[in-house]
Parts: sequence; structure tokens; C-alpha cells
Amino acid sequence: MQTLSILGSTGSIGTSTIDVIARHPEQYQVYALTAHRDYQKLFKQALAVNATHAVLSDDSVRIEASDYAHSLGLNAQLHFGPAALEQVAQAEAVTTVMAAIVGAAGLLPTLAAVEAGKRVLLANKEALVMSGQLFIESANRNKATILPIDSEHNAIFQCLPHNFTYGKLADSGISKVLLTGSGGPFLTYDINAFADITPAQACAHPNWDMGQKISVDSATMMNKGLEFIEARWLFGLDNDDIDIVLHPQSTIHSMVQYVDGSVIAQMGEPDMRTPIAHALAYPQRISSGVAPLDFSQLRDFTFSTPCPDRFPNLYLALAAAKRGQSACTVLNAANEIAVAAFLAGKIGFTQIAELNRYLLAKHIDVALANIPAVLECDAQARDAARQYLQDTLC
Ligand code: NAD
Ligand code: MG
Repeated sequence: MQTLSILGSTGSIGTSTIDVIARHPEQYQVYALTAHRDYQKLFKQALAVNATHAVLSDDSVRIEASDYAHSLGLNAQLHFGPAALEQVAQAEAVTTVMAAIVGAAGLLPTLAAVEAGKRVLLANKEALVMSGQLFIESANRNKATILPIDSEHNAIFQCLPHNFTYGKLADSGISKVLLTGSGGPFLTYDINAFADITPAQACAHPNWDMGQKISVDSATMMNKGLEFIEARWLFGLDNDDIDIVLHPQSTIHSMVQYVDGSVIAQMGEPDMRTPIAHALAYPQRISSGVAPLDFSQLRDFTFSTPCPDRFPNLYLALAAAKRGQSACTVLNAANEIAVAAFLAGKIGFTQIAELNRYLLAKHIDVALANIPAVLECDAQARDAARQYLQDTLC
């Protein structure tokens, strides 16, 4: 029996996680669910899975949330404020933490789970992008197990040999990791019309149903850039070890190429319940509710390489990966500000890359020796991004 805290349970990944564990009540029980402020959804989930604790990180909803919990007859204990996220991530009773908060807000609670040596199912890629080596060192020091939820990284994990040692590709005869991406909704869209793309268009991903931030990141392909950095840290890869391959159908979720010419791919329907079920049950397998891939229905199976003019954000992320940690931390922060401004209708689609490029060009690389330094770097980049938005873009 695994006992879970699901951080970000009301989101896309959180909801899919509850869907999978509800299929296996004899194997998974829920200690805590968390959300930022959507208390109605959180409490309905808490009732459905009989959670012991429910956390709202935004303290400003305390009064109405408490009234609503009372009216529902909710048994779960309520907690408010970000510190409670870390507490439920570290609680003694918890074996497994699903890290599915979006963005930098997930860093401290995810690290709390890592520091407590939990089995961490990592969806919150921004946490790893921001803190890279510090995150992995903490996992090693505290004997935490990190299992990738991001579909590409989960696929790579499944395609690696069982005896794979972190960073030792040659020892396993691996020549390349092939990180696939669909190219999002604008792979063939008229590039001259990019400036007029609306948030609704950007969030309408052709294959995946996801939260708003990652949907915009997929449309700009910043998501693939963040995933490139994520893959480096998860598997100990060099920049040159990874090739990005566009595959619009999202049937293959990534591949590993070996020196003998073999390529091992992981395939399936584009449904996050597959990597979630894989990581939950690893090294066993459990059913996920995902339909089997029906090869008689697969029409196209195509591949290409991404174009820098179309996806400048991807190339900014690759440049940050070459520079080092602080550039990645800055880019992640700038991008979160830019995407929020785009979703709020304050800037256009192409200005996301403009803001990111400006912040990266302005940044002078520094070593980030500890998490307070990471948080300081993140905060400074956010301030500079807000300033640029105010002075130049809005
Ligand atoms: P989402 O927006 O649907 O959900 C985000 C969750 O985080 C919600 O529960 C929300 O309440 C919570 N949250 C938001 N801001 C918060 C804050 N400031 N403090 C505490 N909690 C906060 O996002 P999602 O699509 O589920 O993505 C979650 C993470 O998983 C992201 O890092 C994303 O990159 C990654 N991921 C998602 C998918 C997908 O298919 N959705 C795939 C791969 C990776
Ligand atoms: Mg992904």
C-alpha cells in the first residue's frame, strides 16, 4: 500500500492521478490533496478519495473555504498557506508524493518531498529546471526516488536499459536520446499571423489536454526547451546527447538510440494516465484507463526538425542550457511572467519570446550554490521581467 500526497491535485495531472488511483483502492490511499485556491474542486476530490488532509496554499480563501468544508461535512483536516504544502510533502505517513504544482511555486514543496526521501513522481518540471544539480544532489543524499511523469521523460526512462547508470550513456551502448515533441498547434500555422494568436488558440493543443501554462509553453515550444533541461538532469545527459524530433501525432513519446542502430521507442495514446500509472506502480504495471493503441486507426507517422524562426523560445532554452544553471533559472522565471501576461491579454504571442530573449541577454551568469540563491535569482528575474513588461511591452 502506498500513501500519497498529491500536490496540485485540482490540476490536469492531479485529476488524472486521482483517476488512476481510484481504479486501485487496494494499492493507494491518500494522505493529502493540495490546491492553490479552488477549494470547491479540492474538497470534492478529498471526499471522493477520503483524504486525511486538504491544503489551500492561498490563505486568502480561508473563510469561505472553511464555511464550504463545513457545509459539505468534510472530514479532512484543513490547512492554509504555502508552508502546509511542505508539511504534507514530508509527513511521516507519506510514502509517495505526486509533484504536480505548476511553475516555480512547486519548487519548495517538491524539494521538501525529496529531502524527506520520498518516492517523488515528478511532473513539476520547472522545479528541476530552476534548481538542477541541487535537486539531484538532494535526491541522492536523501535517497529519494525520482520517477518522471512528463510523458517524454517517462518514455525515455522506459526505453533505457535496467542497468543504466546516471550519466553513463556509453556504458549502456546508448548513442542518443531522442526527445519527441508534437510541435503544438502552430507547427504549420502561417508564421506571419503569429502576432495575432489568441490565448484560446494557444491553449487548444491538438493532442494533449493540459493546464494553461504548459499549453502555452507547448505552443511556443518553450515546453520542449524546459524538457531538454529536465532530461539533462533526470538522466545525467550532456547537451549533445539529446536530439529533438518533431512528431505531430504524439504516438511515440520519446526514444533511445543505441550504437548498434537499434532505436527503442515508447508508444501509446497521448493520455497522461499512462506515465502516471507507470510511475505509481513502478516496477510493476497497473491498468490506467487508457485505451490500447489501435494500429489499424493510425494513419500518419511523420517526423521533422523544429524551425528556429517559428519556435524562438525553444532555442532560447537550448542556449540557456549551454550557459548553465542561473540562465535556466532566469529563463524559467521570465517565461512564467511572460506566459501569465499573454494569458491575461496584456502582451501578444510573439512578445513571450521577446521578453525571454531580453531577460536572457541581460543576465550575467552566476553560480547558484544553494536554494536561497536560486530563489533570489528567480525573484530578481521576475522583477526585471515585470519592469520590462511595464516599460516596453504593455
Ligand atoms: P494545472 O494548471 O492544470 O494545475 C496546476 C495545479 O497547481 C493546480 O492544482 C493548482 O491549484 C496548483 N497551483 C497553481 N499555482 C499554485 C501556487 N502558486 N501554489 C500552490 N499550488 C498552485 O497544471 P498541469 O497541466 O496539471 O501541470 C502541472 C505540472 O505538470 C506542470 O509543471 C507541468 O509542466 C507538468 N506537466 C503537465 C502535463 C499535462 O499533461 N498537464 C504533462 C507533463 C508535465
Ligand atoms: Mg512533456
